[in-house]
Amino acid sequence: MLVKIDQIRDPGLKLNEQLSLELLGAALEGSSFRATEPLSVSANLRKLSGGVLVEGKFTTRVVSECKRCLTESKLELPVSFTINFVPESLVRGAGLMDEDEQAEKDRGTGESGGSFALDKADEEVFDGKVIDLEPVVREQLLLSLPMNALCREDCRGLCIKCGQNLNEKQCGCDTTFVDPRLAALKDIKLQG
Ligand SMILES: [Zn+2]
Ligand SMILES: [Zn+2]
Repeated sequence: MLVKIDQIRDPGLKLNEQLSLELLGAALEGSSFRATEPLSVSANLRKLSGGVLVEGKFTTRVVSECKRCLTESKLELPVSFTINFVPESLVRGAGLMDEDEQAEKDRGTGESGGSFALDKADEEVFDGKVIDLEPVVREQLLLSLPMNALCREDCRGLCIKCGQNLNEKQCGCDTTFVDPRLAALKDIKLQG
């Protein structure tokens, strides 16, 4: 997912890229999630204030075992991100703009909403020539994953006695907690 800055013309550059299943697998390694299909990423890149503003989106599609009922369930999570890629030269405080950048700045509010987008954008530093979107997508992917993967918010889990999936049916087990010591006393009383 490499983009050369020279490829970005004035109205911006639209990209549709895929992150292969193999790369996805590597990104998800160590998590409890697994990808079943490649990730399609669409992004829009435009030059802004000497850097490149990237607005991208994709849908995370992964499967995971539900933490409560252990059923394998599918997750679909829409993700969108805005990142401002800032060239090293500007970060170092050189602050020297070439003519194009100065012209862009002078045009000022040509694009309404541009500065708003910049305000809430995360920043990444790049060499000024090539942007690599892959690490960004990988990071956004991991950020989108929930801490606790549940098949649904109100999953009832498994019966602690018989293991019945309580989403499917009630097993009727008495699962009120009984202290084993009290249970022993109860047995004695019954025998007596
Ligand atoms: Zn569940
Ligand atoms: Zn049960």
